[in-house]
Amino acid sequence: MLSEFELIARYFTRPSAPDSRTALGVGDDCALLTPAPGMQLAVSTDMLVAGRHFFPEVDPLTLGHKCLAVNLSDLAAMGAHPIAFTLALALPEAREEWLAPFAQGMLTLADEHGCELVGGDTTKGPLTISITVFGEIPFNQALRRDAAKAGDDIWVSGTLGDARLALAAYRQELVLDAEAHQKAALRMHQPYPRLALGMALRGIAHAAIDISDGLAGDLGHILHRSGVGGQLDVDALPAGAVLQQQAPDLRRRFALSGGDDYELCFTAPAARRKQVQAAADHAATAVTRIGQIEAHSGLRLVTGDGQPLALTPTSFDHFTS
Ligand code: ADP
Ligand code: MG
Repeated sequence: MLSEFELIARYFTRPSAPDSRTALGVGDDCALLTPAPGMQLAVSTDMLVAGRHFFPEVDPLTLGHKCLAVNLSDLAAMGAHPIAFTLALALPEAREEWLAPFAQGMLTLADEHGCELVGGDTTKGPLTISITVFGEIPFNQALRRDAAKAGDDIWVSGTLGDARLALAAYRQELVLDAEAHQKAALRMHQPYPRLALGMALRGIAHAAIDISDGLAGDLGHILHRSGVGGQLDVDALPAGAVLQQQAPDLRRRFALSGGDDYELCFTAPAARRKQVQAAADHAATAVTRIGQIEAHSGLRLVTGDGQPLALTPTSFDHFTS
């Protein structure tokens, strides 16, 4: 059995990249970060608990990836550039067959984005993974939730609902053939944070949020914080490749309220449509215009032909679900 310090040394300590913003990494009482001049630090924490956010027996390689991906997604939603993260880990036991792939999944994604693991804490306990990410962003350019304005377009990146569809199949709420289930499950287990898009939208988008609990609920946070309302065209929502094959009612519901998509929902002035499209092209990420911000509060759903739709979107809440 590995000791705590062997475990940290073996799996979570790596040499610093020479040009990095991380002046001191794992091994001291604190890490030292040096943001570039004129930059603000963007900081965010997400915690994943076994049995709550993931199945305890899930593949540790994809779990390692997902734990960091959901944190990086918060930086993406702010328009921040990732620089470093810390990892607080509670483990029932120090098993190398679990730790090696877990670290590999996490650190491979970290390396793709130049985001260095600079510290953390390790303890015995029920499997819980808490990550704090640090990003940088030029002063006053963050894409905040409270910045949407009446008249803005509402946009979403990528596609929605396949992660929720995979969950429904795991829960046996519906049946998918093996190939379809595997494809949808990839969206659930291996989200890719939209970092390039978030950064490309600086100075173009007004407000942004990443979709973790479902589009309707997460867009609701933007509306509430910005003191505005909005209209969504439910037939414009880009359904995931597998969800597209499902009945229209399910397609609408899962695209609207399914969680775990980790796409970006953002608003931008209608006069900047070309700039939004150019930013999306630059980031090689598809974006779709799905509605408008309006002065009148509340979220109104309409169908493609402009008819109001009576459907109450649900949003995931840990204390009521
Ligand atoms: P302290 O007692 O000062 O909190 P620890 O003994 O907990 O220090 O950790 C020793 C060093 O290892 C610290 O630099 C800490 O940031 C780092 N560390 C501990 N656990 C992890 C982990 N899971 N991943 C990365 N670094 C870690
Ligand atoms: Mg400690």
